[in-house]
Amino acid sequence: MKRGQKVSIQAGHQGGSVLKDPAHRWQWHALDAAVGAVTADCTECGLCVKHCAFLQRHGTPRAMAVQADPRHGNGLMAAYECSLCGLCHAVCPFGVNPAQFFLEQRREAVLRGVGPLAAHQPLLAYERKGTSRPYSLYALPEGCTTVFFPGCTFAGTRAEAVLAILEHLQQSIPALGIVLDCCTKPSHDLGRQDYFLAMFGEMKDFLVAQGVRTVLVACPNCYKVFQSYGSPLQVRTIYERLTEEALPRQDLLRGTVTLHDPCVLRHEPAVQDAVRSLVHHVGLQVMEMPNSRERTLCCGEGGAVGLVNPALGRHWAVARGRQAENCPVVTYCAGCAGQLRRFMPTVHVVDLLLDGKAALAGKARVSRSPFTYWKRLRLKATLKRRFSSARLRERTFQPKP
Ligand code: SF4
Ligand code: SF4
Repeated sequence: MKRGQKVSIQAGHQGGSVLKDPAHRWQWHALDAAVGAVTADCTECGLCVKHCAFLQRHGTPRAMAVQADPRHGNGLMAAYECSLCGLCHAVCPFGVNPAQFFLEQRREAVLRGVGPLAAHQPLLAYERKGTSRPYSLYALPEGCTTVFFPGCTFAGTRAEAVLAILEHLQQSIPALGIVLDCCTKPSHDLGRQDYFLAMFGEMKDFLVAQGVRTVLVACPNCYKVFQSYGSPLQVRTIYERLTEEALPRQDLLRGTVTLHDPCVLRHEPAVQDAVRSLVHHVGLQVMEMPNSRERTLCCGEGGAVGLVNPALGRHWAVARGRQAENCPVVTYCAGCAGQLRRFMPTVHVVDLLLDGKAALAGKARVSRSPFTYWKRLRLKATLKRRFSSARLRERTFQPKP
């Protein structure tokens, strides 16, 4: 298949209908409940459809739910074209959550053996690398109760920034540890719930057993995973933490930027405020886009839609570009930054903090694939040297089939 080519999404009956497996029966009830909730509460007012090209193509959430028969797995595969961005839920006057319905459809597709799609394999290979022995590292010094968890994409694109942030945070948290690993959100979003729970659960149990209490993340997707599944671990973003620190001084910048809030953090005003405060700290003004904060748009990478339907992925990014009105975009997700920069000047807020002038001139130190893999390996080697007296672990765990 050529790059950029749309993958065929089949409609109709998908997979078997025999629900013998207890996990499958449980999932079937979850899908049934999601179908019931959308069918009962969606009035087909069309508000979410107005905002979403996916729904414009497939119909209102209620129309899609009415067609979905959980017993036979009808229409499951269309769910892989939804970004899972949650904008529909944010705008719905009746509190309907179509994104949850589409996520349950993805999970059902996996249990029926028809999902994820071949187009998702590169993303799953990326995730596998992140959790593999060569790429993973847990470095926990004596007395460590807090770890920095940069996430795969941030570590690969900004390895130097990881070291700079680590050194800075160690001034106020001397026993700070670091974890290079993948939170396995790709599997979560593709519906591979059993695999996700096993992988993330093993990581969480290990950290808790080692006495870790708080995880500081750079990636909004990691934040969402730790927040939703990480209890008793507390999760915070480095952006919130950095607003409480004395940051290194740099010449104040001048000008106005606009902010792209990652859709997974649409309900996190404290993180959104922290990032705005960091942008003001370097001297820049913020022009808010019509869709910001709770009503932010997907960058086009959400739910791995771009792998299945590149036109839909592009649609979201182009909509973002229109709202940015030629203003440089600042975001706080390395994935969003990588996607949006293909369409408009975009920088990560950490790039601004490290060297704002270079970032705004498009010269931030950002690595691109395939060098990101080499950067991650080199970062790991550096950390192993720096944490030579700490408790070290590499990930070897794989769930039983
Ligand atoms: S989650 Fe996003 S892409 Fe999916 S239906 Fe809702 S608004 Fe559309
Ligand atoms: S906004 Fe809510 S009620 Fe209106 S079509 Fe969307 S899900 Fe249905």
